[in-house]
Amino acid sequence: MVECVICGAEVTKPNDAVIGELIICPDCGTELEITGLDPFTVEEAPQEQEDWGE
Ligand SMILES: [Zn+2]
Repeated sequence: MVECVICGAEVTKPNDAVIGELIICPDCGTELEITGLDPFTVEEAPQEQEDWGE
């Protein structure tokens, strides 16, 4: 269990969590990138748009 870095809601670690996976905060909908598994840590995922044009 970890707190959402944006809203502080409790976010549960998925059973199949892997570093770099994105999970969605159930409370605010923010994408959180898993940055550690033991202990479980997340950071706000980059919000950049996928830009394949360049
Ligand atoms: Zn949140």
